[in-house]
Order: sequence, then C-alpha cells, then structure tokens
Amino acid sequence: MKHFLCASICAAFTFGSSLSVAQDQIIDSHAHLLPPGMERALNPNVDASVIELRRQMKEAGVTKAGIFAMVQKADPNAMRSYNDFILKTAAESDDFFAVPSVHPLDGEIAVEEVKRVAAMGAKALKLHPFYQGFKIDDPRVNAVVKAAGEAGIPVIFDSISASDGGATGKFVDLAIANPEAKIVLAHMAGYRFSEMILFAVFAKGPFYNNNVYFDLSATAQMYANSPRTDELLWTIREIGIDQFLFASDFPVFDLKPARDAIESYDFTPDELQKLMHDNAVNVFGL
Ligand SMILES: [Zn+2]
Repeated sequence: MKHFLCASICAAFTFGSSLSVAQDQIIDSHAHLLPPGMERALNPNVDASVIELRRQMKEAGVTKAGIFAMVQKADPNAMRSYNDFILKTAAESDDFFAVPSVHPLDGEIAVEEVKRVAAMGAKALKLHPFYQGFKIDDPRVNAVVKAAGEAGIPVIFDSISASDGGATGKFVDLAIANPEAKIVLAHMAGYRFSEMILFAVFAKGPFYNNNVYFDLSATAQMYANSPRTDELLWTIREIGIDQFLFASDFPVFDLKPARDAIESYDFTPDELQKLMHDNAVNVFGL
C-alpha cells in the first residue's frame, strides 16, 4: 500500500513536471478509420470516423493518433483509394499520422504500394494476418517487410494470432531476416503476451537488432487489475520500456478507458513519458 500511495501521491508532487509533459502530449499509435459510408464496419456501435476519433481524443487528452487503413486482397483500386483517404486526412492535420495498408498476397502490387505511400508521407504500414487472411511466414510477407524497411517505415502487425500457435517464432524470424526494418506487434500478442519475453532473450545476442516494438492496445485493458497485472508489467520491463507504445485500437476500444487502463499500472513518470509519447516519436519518426 505504501508503494501504491507513493506512486500516485509522490509522483504528483515530486515528478509533477514530467507527468504534465506526458499528459500534455499523448500519442495513440493505433486507431482505425474507415472510408465514408463504411464507418460501422469494424464496430457496429461506434463510427470509425474522423469526427468520432477527434471527440474521443479530446475526451482522453490524446493529442495525436496514428490512423490505420486495412485493405482486402486483389482490389488495387480500392487499396489505393483507401490509402489516399488516410494519407489526405493525415496531411490535413497535425493531429494524425498516416498508417496505410497493403495486402501481402498481392505480391508486386503490394511492394509498389509500400513505396508509393512511403513517398507520400506514410509513417507506418498496417498488416493483419487474421483479418486479411495471410500466413506470417509467407515469403510475400517478408517481401513487404523488406520493402517497408528500405522505405524507412515500420510495419505494424496485429499479433493476436489465435489460429497460429507458432506466430511468435515467425515474428522472430521476420525481425531477424529484416534487421533494418522496424516491426510493431500490436496488442503485444494479447493473451500470449508472456511469450514476448523471447525478444528480451534474443536482444542479448548479436543476431537480433532489437527491432521489434509492441503496442499495448486491448492487452493493457484486458489485464488491468487482474491476476496477471504484475506479470505484464514485469514482462514489459524485462523487454525494455523503450519498445512499448500506448494505443487504443479505436473504434474497437475507446480512447479514454485505454488511457485509464495504462495509468492503473504502476509505471513510473519516466516510463509513462516514453510509453505515452516519446517512443512513438522515435519509432515512427514523428
Ligand atoms: Zn486494430
């Protein structure tokens, strides 16, 4: 109890300036926007629209958000127009940064799109093995990660791979095969977050470039005030706080509860500053 009290009360006084920086500038690294007319496709109860995202950002004190596309296979025109919508929305405001998407199984079309969106200001690329329907170890996924690495943009994978028990090892293989590419595992593998300790072990060796990062969307909320709260915090610290990002996964999760969940953990003010802001600036080059 003493420790808990000190974490909240001492932090407010002793580290007031550090906390206020974190609270003034908060970056949500994971928010989906859907094209006009399709806003309810991800959550039937919440519009994945600019208006609703802005409303939630204000409510949660979030000052910048990565806005995601997610595209289907074999429809290059739809892919480009969705990505253009994301790029245009981000270009019009400092409140957003663009995270377009490709479908890895589109092969050369996907690789060309990576180069196109990177040249147009994309800050990352979003891929979703389950939603988009591809295997993580498909060589065409490696080709997209390689292209993104060469173009200087991180690749954000959804990492809750419920139907792929070997997903963690496949992400390790991708990271080692592409040491210059940055890979972000959204949701920190969800209920398998403890497997991510593997990256702390690999980071001790010479062949892994510590190029995997994690966003805490969904997972931090799922395990807040749970029997695994301390284990999650311990795992994050073993891997290193510099690898972690605050994120909501809007519109599936709301921004304010996502922030409240993070703040319910026993992070220090310095850790919060990195988690809520500085790491996103470094990873995405904001
Ligand atoms: Zn998502």
